[in-house]
Amino acid sequence: MTPPCQKLLLRLPLSRIFPSSGGPQMLCCGPGSCGGGGTWWVAGMSFSQKTNGAKVIKNPTNCGCAVFPEKSFPTQSGTLWQEFQLTINIGNPSLTSSMSVTLVAHDVYNWIYPNGGNVIPIGPNLDNNPNTTFSLSTPITISIPAGSSSYTITDVSISNAHAGDNWVVEASWRQPGMSVDSHSYSEPLTVWRTLWVELDVMADAEEGIGLNRFNPDTKYTPGASGDRGDITKNKWMDGTPESKPTGEPPNFDVRFVPTTPGVPAMPKPDISTLQTAMIKACIDVKEVEQGATGTTNSTWITGDGATPNPNAWDITTPFMKNLPGQGLTSTKYADQGISNQSRDVNIDNPAFWCVQGIGAYEHQTDKSRDDVEDDAIYGTATIGGGFFLIFNETIRDKVSTDSNVKRTVSQFNQLTTFHEVLHFFGFLDPGEVGYDPNVEGDIMTTGWFNTPTISSSVLTLSPAQIQKIQKTDHPK
Ligand SMILES: [Zn+2]
Repeated sequence: MTPPCQKLLLRLPLSRIFPSSGGPQMLCCGPGSCGGGGTWWVAGMSFSQKTNGAKVIKNPTNCGCAVFPEKSFPTQSGTLWQEFQLTINIGNPSLTSSMSVTLVAHDVYNWIYPNGGNVIPIGPNLDNNPNTTFSLSTPITISIPAGSSSYTITDVSISNAHAGDNWVVEASWRQPGMSVDSHSYSEPLTVWRTLWVELDVMADAEEGIGLNRFNPDTKYTPGASGDRGDITKNKWMDGTPESKPTGEPPNFDVRFVPTTPGVPAMPKPDISTLQTAMIKACIDVKEVEQGATGTTNSTWITGDGATPNPNAWDITTPFMKNLPGQGLTSTKYADQGISNQSRDVNIDNPAFWCVQGIGAYEHQTDKSRDDVEDDAIYGTATIGGGFFLIFNETIRDKVSTDSNVKRTVSQFNQLTTFHEVLHFFGFLDPGEVGYDPNVEGDIMTTGWFNTPTISSSVLTLSPAQIQKIQKTDHPK
């Protein structure tokens, strides 16, 4: 259960919030909680959303906000998307003179992440993003007219925002007859970012002549007589027999597809584990809703040149049995052509994060585990290209033919998807130059294949992982 805001705040040593000075004696979350006794005072400050501005989500305990200073859709123009409001409440609205108040934002340690209900203390000082600019980091002085009960600054803004950046705004003023300034502090404000994921899938393999087609005469049909009832007779039309590991189960295998015309047999990448884990890094992961006019994201198609069909959502890419492999400098770099066939959202927009994930069949011939001796690649992430592939057939072969593997196909998809997306945040595989197991963590290894249960160290981001993620300017 979430403790009340004020208690949580006051439990923390203030030196963690304002480490460089004596700082305030307390933080204010409600009217009248500090500054009383004079003729006027700042009773509190709070952040809110402006029309077409950055999304602001209040913590239900009314202490702390999540702000999303980013474009909420790819083609959003102007700069309102990085602006929001700060409202100053006046403790004595009947005052008869104007009041002069100086405001300045303090970059505070990361100790709490409010996001509309989730309060997650994770540890101090993970956010050191000198490139981020908060407009109130430079002090401003405002004059609040006599008689005002509140005063709203409508163009507070954050640029180059990184997930996890956070601030508290300090108000300072001098009451009449007093020789020292009084101070009040805003609710804490934490930057969140949204990572959109465009999820596509490879189409079914088709019968017929040519590459990536399979021989209709040998298509296995359960219960049929002759070759069509003999699963070993299935052949690809490029001359290679359909090799398979012993004991391979039949679902969505080429010998059975196409199943329902127009309905891809392969699953999309599963972002559920990614979504849950990334909350701790202040990143909200969302699937792009691809659909007809009227659906949530229907206006998003940008036709950015990577899109073969600029006026409609493309959710399938043609079936490819093995990736060509030409020009691959690393197994992490898969064929760009696969993603281009179905990409709709521009991944290069710096104020809007979107990567593309494709449910694919298998990697190159010798990396598909069609023979148990084969090397096996379960997913790839193309760094800079902003797309990842999940190889469903290879995952299925591995799960069904390696008795050491304790994961289900579904878990394999979830964890591989999580792993591949972390590559866009700079995470490395074991063996790569710069790989640090203490930072990259267990999700970047393959140890989770064989453990009896999935360790929380796989599913939960560590402070080192959060720090690495939050330094990312633009995942792609
Ligand atoms: Zn990897």
